[in-house]
Amino acid sequence: MNELIYKILLAALVIAMNFIRLYYQKRYKTSHAVTEAEIAPKREKRMTILMFFALAVPGMMWLFTGWLSFGQFGLHDGVRIAGFVVGVYSMWWFYRIHRTLGDNWSPVLEIRREHTLITDGPYRYVRHPMYSDMMLWLVSFTLITANWFYALTISTGLAIMLIVRIPDEERLMMERFGEPYRAYMKRTKRLIPGVF
Ligand code: SAH
Repeated sequence: MNELIYKILLAALVIAMNFIRLYYQKRYKTSHAVTEAEIAPKREKRMTILMFFALAVPGMMWLFTGWLSFGQFGLHDGVRIAGFVVGVYSMWWFYRIHRTLGDNWSPVLEIRREHTLITDGPYRYVRHPMYSDMMLWLVSFTLITANWFYALTISTGLAIMLIVRIPDEERLMMERFGEPYRAYMKRTKRLIPGVF
């Protein structure tokens, strides 16, 4: 199939992702909720930059230039389309997870004065459904683009982010919510239901 089709499919997912993100980002900025505790704001900013270079920059390169063509590998059209289906599924979850977190969502790690502990909806299955969802992006974007270099940049960025962030995030939640969060940790896994 024409490569242009895959570009359109990837672009559609990227647009959906940004719509969801920008909506909640705007809400976050205008909600006037008071931040009570935050973790390493400088490092968090670096994490955002890291993800920008791991996900957005190579994605744009793949969409609009031929610079990543060295990374292409042969993949059946059906598999690439299946990658798009995974992507649609992941964007649906991305929306649901944001909606469930509501004003508890923040682009950087922090606890707000009105923070509540969410353990239902997508949070019933794992403690970090948004990060799990990003692992689905890795699968989806790799299959759609059929580009190993893009797969490598996303997985590296994501791995660094998860390794650095999750322990701090859980410490923050534990400090704020104590026993209820400990109990929640006992009955859920981090990223993959029942596995890890
Ligand atoms: N790690 C989560 C949330 C990412 S957004 C996920 O992958 O779905 C990051 C913010 O969410 C953090 O600042 C943290 O304060 C908040 N957060 C994380 N888990 C939460 C929970 N179970 N309930 C409420 N807020 C949570």
